[in-house]
Amino acid sequence: MTSNVLLRCRGLSAAVEDKQILHDIDLQVPQGEVHVLMGPNGAGKSTLGHVLMGNPAYEVIGGDIEFDGADITELTPDKRSQAGLFLSFQAPVEIPGVPLRSFLRAMMEGRGEKMKNKEFRKKTQALAETLDMDPAYLDRELGVGFSGGEKKKVEMLQLLLLQPKLAILDETDSGLDVDALSVVSRGMELYREQCDGTLLIITHNTRILEHLNVDRVHVMVSGHMVAEGTAELIDEIDAQGFERYEASISPSEGAHSGRPDTK
Ligand code: ADP
Ligand code: MG
Repeated sequence: MTSNVLLRCRGLSAAVEDKQILHDIDLQVPQGEVHVLMGPNGAGKSTLGHVLMGNPAYEVIGGDIEFDGADITELTPDKRSQAGLFLSFQAPVEIPGVPLRSFLRAMMEGRGEKMKNKEFRKKTQALAETLDMDPAYLDRELGVGFSGGEKKKVEMLQLLLLQPKLAILDETDSGLDVDALSVVSRGMELYREQCDGTLLIITHNTRILEHLNVDRVHVMVSGHMVAEGTAELIDEIDAQGFERYEASISPSEGAHSGRPDTK
């Protein structure tokens, strides 16, 4: 294999409130690829996103996470973000009194990027326009009264400003409307085009994947990775659901047997 692995989890197990959620997860995402993580509700997909980001509510109880050649298992979320990891948030913050533009600026400075005010205005303005976002939004209070689609625009604006090496987009439970879906879809496309970004997309809404070339699909059930395959797996799961994978995991979650190989 010649590809350069950007993210690699080996035997990753994690717990929340002393309950094990993730079991022995192996995952590799090479630089520049688009990967999709699918699985039924409660499978542990969002948990994996949080664990990769270093959310302190989740405890790693086994295995490790390597990112861009370094072991990040013990790093704080801040350090992971500086290393180039990005996780979309399902419930964006509301901060009354803080204009969106100031928030974005603070975010960039937190990443150690200094930019002249004028330059920053120009850049955010241009990005807002490519996302079909009224630049007047940049002067509005963060998150206050934003619609679902507008919140997604803010999220995609953050993504395109930060230009992370890996973006983990968790869209599973956010109940995206058509408007928000197209925003996410456009944002992902721009991220690919402008930043040669690497994506790990957690989604049920496989329509948002239509404009992307998906390299690899991973299937998680009951905290186990149960299958991996090409983009064809998406259509198969859309048609048949997860039943055949669920059958391979015992309800006690003990067994590692039955790992359907769907290459
Ligand atoms: P998915 O994103 O695949 O729907 P989640 O990762 O959200 O699944 O949840 C997996 C399991 O972990 C569920 O049983 C859920 O209740 C539990 N879980 C996740 N996060 C927490 C948390 N912060 N506190 C308690 N339980 C949690
Ligand atoms: Mg989820």
